[in-house]
Amino acid sequence: LLADTVARVRDREAVVFRAQGIRWTWGEFAARVDALAGGMTRLGLAKGDRCGVWAPNRYEWLLAQFATARIGVILVNINPAYRLHELEFALAKTGCRALILPERFKSSEYLAMLRVVAPELTEDAPGELDSASLPNLRHVIVMSDAHHPGCFRFAEVEAMGAEVSVSDLDALTATLDRHDPVNIQFTSGTTGMPKGATLTHRNIVNNAHFVTAAMKLAEADRLCIPVPFYHCFGMVMGTLGCVTKGAAMVVPGEGFDPVDTLTAVAEERCTALYGVPTMFVGMLEHPRFAEFDLSSLRTGIMAGAPCPIEVMKQVQRHMHMHEVTIAYGMTETSPVSFQSDTDTPLDKRVGSVGRIQPHLEVKIAREDGSVADIGEQGELMTRGYSVMQGYWDEPDRTAEAIDEEGWMHTGDLATIDGEGYCNITGRVKDMILRGGENVYPREIEEFLYTHPDVSQVQVFGVPDHKYGEIVAAWIVPKPGATPTEDGIRQFCRDQIAHFKVPALVRFKPELPMTVTGKPQKFVMRDAMVEELG
Ligand code: ATP
Ligand code: MG
Repeated sequence: LLADTVARVRDREAVVFRAQGIRWTWGEFAARVDALAGGMTRLGLAKGDRCGVWAPNRYEWLLAQFATARIGVILVNINPAYRLHELEFALAKTGCRALILPERFKSSEYLAMLRVVAPELTEDAPGELDSASLPNLRHVIVMSDAHHPGCFRFAEVEAMGAEVSVSDLDALTATLDRHDPVNIQFTSGTTGMPKGATLTHRNIVNNAHFVTAAMKLAEADRLCIPVPFYHCFGMVMGTLGCVTKGAAMVVPGEGFDPVDTLTAVAEERCTALYGVPTMFVGMLEHPRFAEFDLSSLRTGIMAGAPCPIEVMKQVQRHMHMHEVTIAYGMTETSPVSFQSDTDTPLDKRVGSVGRIQPHLEVKIAREDGSVADIGEQGELMTRGYSVMQGYWDEPDRTAEAIDEEGWMHTGDLATIDGEGYCNITGRVKDMILRGGENVYPREIEEFLYTHPDVSQVQVFGVPDHKYGEIVAAWIVPKPGATPTEDGIRQFCRDQIAHFKVPALVRFKPELPMTVTGKPQKFVMRDAMVEELG
């Protein structure tokens, strides 16, 4: 795939990493990928081996993504926010043979944490690690110019690759099948421990193609990618999407920062921009927002969490992204299954997640499995090329998620209107069953947002011996506001049904979130259960 793009646009700019001062043409990018791929084969990494990347958005991540795909090694995306316990879990679960990491990121000492997980990593010569706790882990590759005992330097591995010829690499690539796994991606962990979705070349290359086609991305485009590479938004819709179209990728920094992103768009004359809703809000509300010339922007994607209509309108109006699209997806479906496109009428574009992507099937299922009517809420199910192979090493959970007919049970509640536009109305797991009534948290949250003292709110169910479950709310008050539990309930009482009024209201300075910006209701629920004894 990369070779095809290089053949078309070899000398155009392909890759910009502003924080690291990197600018490559497609030809240069492909040569660096080959050097790393060659080095990996010299280390003994081969088809089917797993290689973890635990890092923020750096050029080494991008090279690792395409070098592993070139030789059939399976890339394991490890969240840069992971700490000791989660790192060990991810490495052990997937049996990684190699791990690529920076020395540190922000205030975290990555290499020091790894040494705790794999204490054998202390001998002076790099090479074969023999770890008792992680028996599969052999090679540790550090993004650093300094020598670290027991580790390879990233540049050293690239240099080893110089001895491997392009035709040798081509021969390895030729042994790959489109159904071979290319990637194990962990889900965000919004509802519990993250699951590793096994994705194939066919899964993600096709999805990257259709996602960028809906935005009409082309060779002249420059896409700004502030979303994390470790997640499918960054690496499938972002970097891989650019490769399918020959569009340049511009990476503003290692992590998201509103000013870095706005500066990158303005100075690099980006035509497209990705973000989750909170990133767009962070940019729009930034005191320096007006200083940046965003007139080069045309399109982009907002996705990953519910996209408020008001935010979409502001993005169109104030960020010049008249053709901005919304996407809905999940890691398990490579990821996108619904997306609005540049032809979608404005009201539909802001109010729904668009229509089903080409070559995918969809149905909304009732609890008994029958197909719901138009406009009726049920569980969203999708089927087609994008559905993952399964959860890595978890046949039981795979069987729960994908049924015998190949339908992926998304766990999300949705409705679809007569024209095929889809609305996501919440997660099945979040639905509260209170004494025979189905209560949908999203509806109560939307209502509580109208209270003048409420900045953020999450509603969830807590087990109760009388009703089965009762409704609880965690509220972050606006600065200076001091709402009371009774006051909130009084506010609800006159306006929503009694069974929806939160029986428990707690005020918190902040809410537990995943790094992808999603509130974790299960953490709140566990805390309430503990509080109630
Ligand atoms: P986990 O499965 O580990 O609990 P997760 O489901 O949040 O975490 P992801 O695969 O990153 O992990 O996210 C997919 C979910 O994100 C979807 O199932 C859906 O609930 C939510 N989501 C994604 N895009 C949208 C959108 N445009 N609107 C509303 N919700 C969305
Ligand atoms: Mg999920």
